[in-house]
Amino acid sequence: MQVIGLTGGIGSGKSTVAHLFAVRGIPVIDTDHIAHALSTPPSPLLSVIAETFGSDHLLPDGHLDRAKLREQVFHNPQAKQALEAILHPAIHHDVTQQLARLPATTPYALVVVPLFFETGAYYDVVTRVLVVDCDEQTQLARVLSRPGLSKETTQAIISLQATRQQRLSGADDVIQNTGTLDLLEEQVNALHQHYLGQS
Ligand code: ADP
Repeated sequence: MQVIGLTGGIGSGKSTVAHLFAVRGIPVIDTDHIAHALSTPPSPLLSVIAETFGSDHLLPDGHLDRAKLREQVFHNPQAKQALEAILHPAIHHDVTQQLARLPATTPYALVVVPLFFETGAYYDVVTRVLVVDCDEQTQLARVLSRPGLSKETTQAIISLQATRQQRLSGADDVIQNTGTLDLLEEQVNALHQHYLGQS
């Protein structure tokens, strides 16, 4: 079965694209969703996180203090590495299990890996890499139009991620998401037909 790895920078439109494939009946496995699920109780990974970072990283109700952990890993590369060492193998394992459970009739599947090129950890899982591309100004504007991240934090995240050029040079397929949502949907339609034709 063809497995498409979907990637792109923050605010490029990955979730929007993933949704457009999902409504066409394509199974979407999202590594961010898995990371969230694996760090929500009950999860054995939570105790590993508490052992590594301290039990003050858990809230009184046993949930992860995500804001505290995010803040810590953002400013401390060693802490970031430690968290990734806990989470990444478990996420990868979950992805392969979900793929293995798909019905044999599945034409193709999508795995959303925001940090595909940065981690290099999903080449063994995917058969093609689909990049959602857009310029940094558009990324920034889209992220800032939602509540949550400041301009400074968003710029810092963008600068830590792979460059547009790095992504484009590693892409098998590219969706340009600099225009309207209609134009985005047209491209998803064309790629969907293309992938169906290959299955
Ligand atoms: P990512 O998952 O890559 O961070 P999202 O799919 O969440 O990006 O998109 C970021 C924001 O930009 C969302 O609010 C989304 O609705 C919006 N968006 C995405 N593509 C477009 C587009 N072509 N036109 C207008 N808004 C868009």
